[in-house]
Amino acid sequence: MASTLDRSAVQSRVNVWKMAQEQLDDVARLIGLDEGVHAYLREAKRVLQVSVPVRMDDGRLQMFEGFRVQHNMSRGPGKGGIRFHPDVTLDEVKALAMWMTWKCALVNIPFGGAKGGVICDPKAMSERELERLTRRFTSEISIIIGPEKDIPAPDVYTTPQIMAWIMDTFSMQHGYSVAGVVTGKPVSIGGSLGRDKATARGCLYVVDEAMREIGKERSGARVAVQGFGNAGMHAADLMDAAGYQIVAVSDSRGGVANDAGLDIEGLIAYKARTGSVVGFKGGEALDNKAVLEYDCDVLVPAALEKVITPENAPRVRAKIIAEAANGPTLPDADDILYDRGIMVLPDILANAGGVTVSYFEWVQDLQNNFWEEDEINDRLRRKMVRAFTETLEAAKHHRVNMRRGAYAVAIDRVAEATMSRGLYP
Ligand code: GLU
Repeated sequence: MASTLDRSAVQSRVNVWKMAQEQLDDVARLIGLDEGVHAYLREAKRVLQVSVPVRMDDGRLQMFEGFRVQHNMSRGPGKGGIRFHPDVTLDEVKALAMWMTWKCALVNIPFGGAKGGVICDPKAMSERELERLTRRFTSEISIIIGPEKDIPAPDVYTTPQIMAWIMDTFSMQHGYSVAGVVTGKPVSIGGSLGRDKATARGCLYVVDEAMREIGKERSGARVAVQGFGNAGMHAADLMDAAGYQIVAVSDSRGGVANDAGLDIEGLIAYKARTGSVVGFKGGEALDNKAVLEYDCDVLVPAALEKVITPENAPRVRAKIIAEAANGPTLPDADDILYDRGIMVLPDILANAGGVTVSYFEWVQDLQNNFWEEDEINDRLRRKMVRAFTETLEAAKHHRVNMRRGAYAVAIDRVAEATMSRGLYP
């Protein structure tokens, strides 16, 4: 993904952890947050760094570096995905963990924020190597994870199969099956119906709300999607089925556009066959940065952080940006977009559908009682619509953009929990 994106000077200068802390500082001032609580929330509660030895297929022993960060657990156990990517850094994982704290609070699920990452290139590894890496990494972080402690899930380049290995490894160590230790598992071992498409479905629900708010018809509205992984691919698919017209998509290798609307079903089959959307015959080629500036109504960045910058923000043509990715917009770009009247649905709102159905999965696992998909989607819709409405109200109340509105709601909830519990000892 990012490795082939042509990163600008501005992008590489920005440290995402500093960016996450500054987003907090900014809203702390806005809502008059208690200074002590602010200082508390600026730091991660716990950081675990592990070295992961893996026997590769050719017999060599290779070392990998991995992390699990727990940012805040005042509202419940830690929750957040595990990312396998060559560009993972500890600061990135810390930022992602902090964003999980706000995300879980915004949709009002009883979790704190956590995140994990392993520096590796899963595309260059065999299935067996990935399994060994996952199992050993799980074993190394097993001292801090568990259904009541911290519950991992999928993120960039991690899959239901990887979640199954995490569940199995943890269960083998405990001597019985512990389904609730991880979410995003295959349905056959306690996964939830609807979890695979939940991030995208939640994104669709809030885009629908935003379209209503700005008074635009969704039928025929033009959508551009950057990233064609779990979030981007399903978002394109669900939005296409809901009547939007998908005019441009890209993945880490490049993109494809068609003003008459892309054949999304054909594109998904093409990507499954070739590993990329590049070369798809149903449209013109374009590069994965151009997709951000493509003529559309809704832009869905669904890949990695820091892609919308002060350089390209003046050229974004969408009226709504729905952040299916975490952290795609730099703070200075946010202000440019706001001044231009573009509504940004922030990551902690736009992609919260994933963790929301992860919560449903965890609840079902703990109860050993599994729900119908309709019920899951309906509960998801209600959570997303409520979070959208609360965000919009806070944004209007403080006269700020939707990101600051969402942060105001979330930080307030976390601060309240933190203060009610008080300080130990
Ligand atoms: N990785 C997803 C996120 O960033 C999902 C996390 C989860 O389900 O715990 O929100």
